[in-house]
Amino acid sequence: MNKREIQHHADFDQHELVEFCDNGRLTAIIAVHNSNLGPAVGGCRMYPYLSEEDALTDVLRLSRGMTYKSALAGLPLGGGKSVIIGNPRTDKTRDLLLAMGEFVDSLNGRYITAEDSGTSVADMAVMAERTQHVSGLPADDQYGGDPSPYTAYGVLVGIREAVQYRCESDLKGIRVAVQGAGNVGYHLTRMLLEDGAKVFVADVSAANLERAAALGAEVMPVADILRAEVDVLAPCAMGAVINEDAVRDIRAGIVAGAANNQLATEAMGHVLLDRGILYAPDYVINAGGIIDVYCQQRGERSEKVVAHVERIGETLGNIFRESDLSRRSTHEVADRMAEAVFVPAAREVA
Ligand code: NAD
Repeated sequence: MNKREIQHHADFDQHELVEFCDNGRLTAIIAVHNSNLGPAVGGCRMYPYLSEEDALTDVLRLSRGMTYKSALAGLPLGGGKSVIIGNPRTDKTRDLLLAMGEFVDSLNGRYITAEDSGTSVADMAVMAERTQHVSGLPADDQYGGDPSPYTAYGVLVGIREAVQYRCESDLKGIRVAVQGAGNVGYHLTRMLLEDGAKVFVADVSAANLERAAALGAEVMPVADILRAEVDVLAPCAMGAVINEDAVRDIRAGIVAGAANNQLATEAMGHVLLDRGILYAPDYVINAGGIIDVYCQQRGERSEKVVAHVERIGETLGNIFRESDLSRRSTHEVADRMAEAVFVPAAREVA
């Protein structure tokens, strides 16, 4: 794909850098959306994309999301992301990870990588043999470099804020449907149960489902979770779950979960608003992981990470209030707030 084609991609959005690697050892893309606030940080996803076009769309959308996420999380970081085209179960070799480390290193620190779906903390340690621009390493913190417990904690804080805002209540007896009991969904389920919520989980993985059920969550069929009769729907599996079909079926009054890019299109945010469903913008509520990654790099202690993650609640509260006042969707309000942080011209206007 040439530069011109990339720049005309629907999701290009003024990316500063899009680099491809296809050298026989590795097929991957690194995207840096914006580095006004600092070096671009974002995870490395490994997924068996059906085409380079699909991989490019994903990396561009995710990398842009990281710029907005870091800006509203109050971090001096830019937004970037990388994707490796391949099946993490069958194609991941030590040499592929070393090649990815070399690819990251070739950008001289403009992009700092971390784990994401399809890559692990152990994989980051292998990449780190070839580059220093890696975060989320095994010895970095009490969770062994895994940011997902902090992501889950941020989502919990966000759900508390949304329930307080909408129902003037704490989480005792509140019913929450968690779609996807993976790394984040598992910890979130545990934390919600500790807060006294009633949790329903659905997952395509029997092992992950069993783990969540053992905590005390009630299992629900995958096909029913999005339309569950609950107070809060927490999408924690994959993106684009709130699409034309699903958005009409949602019965929860609040949507607040960890998955990136939950809205299949911008219009879904408006439909949620029109239906009176309070939506916690994904990149705001799921920022706990990037906050952890940033703090790990600076060697900060876990109390500092927790305090920073808790600020997600205040940010969401501001977004909810502004959305109600202006009758704009919460994700639109969040986007404008983020741009006021990372775009100098938008700051002057604001
Ligand atoms: P994960 O891969 O560990 O968990 C995802 C879970 O969803 C798995 O258990 C999988 O079996 C399940 N799943 C897949 N398809 C499903 C379906 N159709 N219905 C129900 N369950 C299904 O990933 P994770 O690290 O827990 O991340 C979850 C989401 O949160 C992802 O979208 C990720 O991008 C986002 N996120 C994660 C972090 C983090 O710190 N891990 C940070 C920010 C955002």
